[in-house]
Parts: sequence; structure tokens; C-alpha cells
Amino acid sequence: MVVTSDKDKCVRCGGCVGVCPKGALTLTEHGIVCDASKCVNCKACVNFCPVGALKIED
Ligand code: SF4
Ligand code: SF4
Repeated sequence: MVVTSDKDKCVRCGGCVGVCPKGALTLTEHGIVCDASKCVNCKACVNFCPVGALKIED
């Protein structure tokens, strides 16, 4: 699983990085990047994001 972010929606608050229990997310100059080898599809980040910028893809 991998989480992708919509750069037009993301306000770079960094909150999703903090809620991920696996440390899979990183905030970079290109937006949120997800390490697919760490993501366990818990959806904590998707549910947390205040602007709905994240989604999970297979
Ligand atoms: S929680 Fe949402 S708005 Fe905040 S950095 Fe993550 S994707 Fe961007
Ligand atoms: S779905 Fe869960 S494990 Fe995957 S990036 Fe989001 S918070 Fe982290």
C-alpha cells in the first residue's frame, strides 16, 4: 500500500507525519512522500488530514 497526497490541497501542516504509527510519511519540498514498504494501510493519516489531501492506493 502507498499513500499519495494531492499537492493542490495539502497545506503542509505535517500532522499526518506525526500520526503515522509506522513512520512511513515524510514531508518534503515536493509534498508528502510515503514509504510503501512501511505503510500498513491503517488509514490514520487519511482520517487525520484536515483538508482531505491523502488517499491510499494499491
Ligand atoms: S495532514 Fe494533510 S495537509 Fe497536513 S501535511 Fe499531511 S497531507 Fe498535508
Ligand atoms: S495508512 Fe497508516 S501506516 Fe500508511 S502512511 Fe497512513 S498512517 Fe502511516
